[in-house]
Amino acid sequence: MPALIDSFGRRVDYIRLSVTDRCDFRCVYCMTEEMTFLPRDQVLSLEELHIIAQAFTELGVNKIRLTGGEPLVRNNVMSLVESLGRLPGLKELLLTTNGAQLDKYAQPLRQAGVNRINISLDSLDAERFRRISRTGKLESVLAGVEAARRQNFEHIRLNAVIMKGYNDDEVLALTEYALDRDLDIAFIEEMPLGNASDHDRENTVCSNEWVRGVIAAKYAVLPIKEKTAGPSRYYQIPGRTSRIGFISPVSHNFCGDCNRVRVTVEGRLLLCLGNEHSVDLRAVLREQNGGLEGVKQAIIGAMHLKPERHFFYEKDHVQPVRLMNMTGG
Ligand code: SAM
Ligand code: SF4
Repeated sequence: MPALIDSFGRRVDYIRLSVTDRCDFRCVYCMTEEMTFLPRDQVLSLEELHIIAQAFTELGVNKIRLTGGEPLVRNNVMSLVESLGRLPGLKELLLTTNGAQLDKYAQPLRQAGVNRINISLDSLDAERFRRISRTGKLESVLAGVEAARRQNFEHIRLNAVIMKGYNDDEVLALTEYALDRDLDIAFIEEMPLGNASDHDRENTVCSNEWVRGVIAAKYAVLPIKEKTAGPSRYYQIPGRTSRIGFISPVSHNFCGDCNRVRVTVEGRLLLCLGNEHSVDLRAVLREQNGGLEGVKQAIIGAMHLKPERHFFYEKDHVQPVRLMNMTGG
C-alpha cells in the first residue's frame, strides 16, 4: 500500500471531508448571522465525495471524519455514509455534528459503520446555548446526545469552545455532564478563521491552560500517557472513564505530528488548517476528467505543499479568510 508522506516526513493517514458548507446553526465563532452559502454546482456531488474518499483510502488513509458545515443537513447524506462504510482499508469512519438531528440519525449512522462521533456542546443553559449558536435549541442537542449514547459508539466526545463572557463559567458543569455519562470532552481554543464573530476574538479566547486549571481546582487531572496523533492532549480523572482533551491551536503549536489534511466541500484539498496551500480536486474531476486515478495523482502531487506549521495571532502573518464552515472543522 503506497503511503502519503510530506516533505517533513509526516505520514498523512487521516482526512477530514466536508460534506456541506450549510448548517442549521450560526455559531458565533464559526459563522456570520447572514450567511451566503455556495451555489449547488460548486459543491461536490455525493458521487464526487465518494471518489475522493476512495482515492485517499487507496493511498493508505485509514481514517475519515465527515464534517462541514453540519454534515447531517446534507440531502441524502446517509447514502454517502453507507458507501464510505464499505470502503476497503478504512478502519475508522468518524463524524462531527452539532447533534441537533442525532435523535433521528444516531442509529442509522452506527449501522452504516460510523465508529465514533463528536458532538458540539458549548453550554447547558438553554438561553446561552441560543446566544452562542444563534439558532440552535439545547433541548434537541441533549436529546441527540442521549440517542447517540444508546447506540454503543466506540467513543462519543463532546466538543466545547470556551469564550470569555459567553460560557467561561460553565467549564465545570460541562465537564461534569460528560463525567456523569462516561463521555469524553474536548475543549477547543477558538481559532481566528474568517471574520465570523460578533466579538473580538483576542479578547474572548480562553487558553486551555486556564480551562484545565479550573478543572484541576476540583479534580485531580492526570495526563494520559499513550500519545494520540494530532492536536489533542488527553487527561483523565482517577476512577473515571471519561477522557478530557485539550485542543490548543492558539497557545500551542502541534504541527510536528500533524497526520491530516482536509477536503472542502468545493473539492479543495487543504494541506493545513491555518494556511492557504491547496489543490483543486474538483477541477481534476470535472475539467480534466481525471477520475479516480487523476485524483490519486493530484493527491500524491500535493503532499510537497503541506507547510511545516501554522501561525495564528502572529505578527506579519496573514490570517486565513476562510470561515470554519468552509474549512471543514
Ligand atoms: N457542525 C458540526 C459541529 O458543530 O460539530 C461540524 C462542523 S464544526 C465547524 C466542527 C467543530 O469546529 C465544532 O466542534 C466547532 O465548535 C468547531 N469550531 C468552529 N469554528 C471554530 C473556531 N473559530 N475556533 C475553534 N473551533 C471552531
Ligand atoms: Fe454549524 Fe458547526 Fe459551525 Fe456551529 S460550529 S455554525 S453547528 S458548522
